[in-house]
Amino acid sequence: MHALGFGEQVHSYSVKLGYDASVSIKNSIMYLYLRSGRVDEARRLFDAMRTISLVTWNAIIAGYSQIMGSEKDYLKAHHSGSEALQIYLKLHRSRMKPDLFTFSSILTVCSGLVALDQGEQIHAQTIKSGFLSDVVVGSALVNMYYKCGSAEKATKAFVEMPTRTLISWSSMITGFAQHGRCVEALQLFEDMIITGVKPNKVTFVGVLSACSHAGMEAFDFIEKTEFEPNEFVWSLLIAGCRSHGNMELGFYAAERLLQLKPKDCETYALLLSMYISAGKWKNVTKVRKMMKDKKIGSLQDWSSISIKDKVYSFKPDDKSNNQSVEMYRLLDDLVERAKSLGYVSERSLDAVDEDGNDEGILSSTIHHSEKLAVAFGLLSTCQGSSIRVIKSISMYRDSHSLIKHISAMTGREIILRDSKRLHQFNDGQCSCGDFGSLL
Ligand SMILES: [Zn+2]
Repeated sequence: MHALGFGEQVHSYSVKLGYDASVSIKNSIMYLYLRSGRVDEARRLFDAMRTISLVTWNAIIAGYSQIMGSEKDYLKAHHSGSEALQIYLKLHRSRMKPDLFTFSSILTVCSGLVALDQGEQIHAQTIKSGFLSDVVVGSALVNMYYKCGSAEKATKAFVEMPTRTLISWSSMITGFAQHGRCVEALQLFEDMIITGVKPNKVTFVGVLSACSHAGMEAFDFIEKTEFEPNEFVWSLLIAGCRSHGNMELGFYAAERLLQLKPKDCETYALLLSMYISAGKWKNVTKVRKMMKDKKIGSLQDWSSISIKDKVYSFKPDDKSNNQSVEMYRLLDDLVERAKSLGYVSERSLDAVDEDGNDEGILSSTIHHSEKLAVAFGLLSTCQGSSIRVIKSISMYRDSHSLIKHISAMTGREIILRDSKRLHQFNDGQCSCGDFGSLL
């Protein structure tokens, strides 16, 4: 903040002295604003520049991209991402040629926005400009494709890379694991070792995630490595244990996760949901009391979907959208049809009291944010097109099983990225193979 105050003074002096027109001074001040997160001020300077060097274009795009990555408020994050895309389009229209820094930043932006169409256009531009062979750009492409839900295109981009580094191997292994393609992930890990590349933490997380999908003993794997498991690894293990019915190990992992993140509301919710499904009411009471004592707030649950460059955000039981009536009607109809196909709604955390009595509210009557976003997507996009939703916390088990049915009943592909992973629903199945970390 100190440096920024100084920077502002320098800025106003330079204006007074008439040095403001100097490109290098403008650039330096713009970087200072970007580094301190004041992107609006940086943007004002950027917009007023008459000559813009590629370094400056890159700085502003990277600035927006970093804000998108660190901003907690989804709408603000999405706005920063969209601004980065707009600036990139401007750059593309100018005669300036992007370089590898431009491409890797803008591909990261596409991943964050789940903007597959724009990502594909940028892929074509990397080919034209000869940057496809660059290992940084290639890895960013692999990353973008799997984060946008296309494992096929990620694989193709990976195979086409002339050289591969640890980053590209790790991206592809994580990509396979996220898509539930465990055998391929583990095969690739072996290939990587054979070619002499030494794995790092990211690679291990990818492999572990594949192991927990495949139902292999991921704990053994952890013991063999020198890495201390992080929160991501523990949550993967929990998901794996729950799906395999190994609840004791699951509870152990959940308690460990709580030690790592003692203030995290989602971890408590996860533990609570595990105890509720296991019918361990004493523990349910214990966790609820801990949450009260530690003043753990409520879950910040929302889902969003972008339709034609506009973002629509939903909270649970949200009725603020002007298509709410149609959305709720469609959801009710889908729930009824799903029930006739075997869908059973699961009890939600709020609907169960401390003695395990259901308060008469089944979670299918609770409109989780992701259900609303999917319903809105079904109403607002044309038949046959994919629906892409982003959710702030892990998906609920109940929504997960309902959306599987919805994908089969509507013939739509539904891609949902939650705080832990990517779920790709197709024809009644999810790519996570039900091994996703669910609440
Ligand atoms: Zn899933």
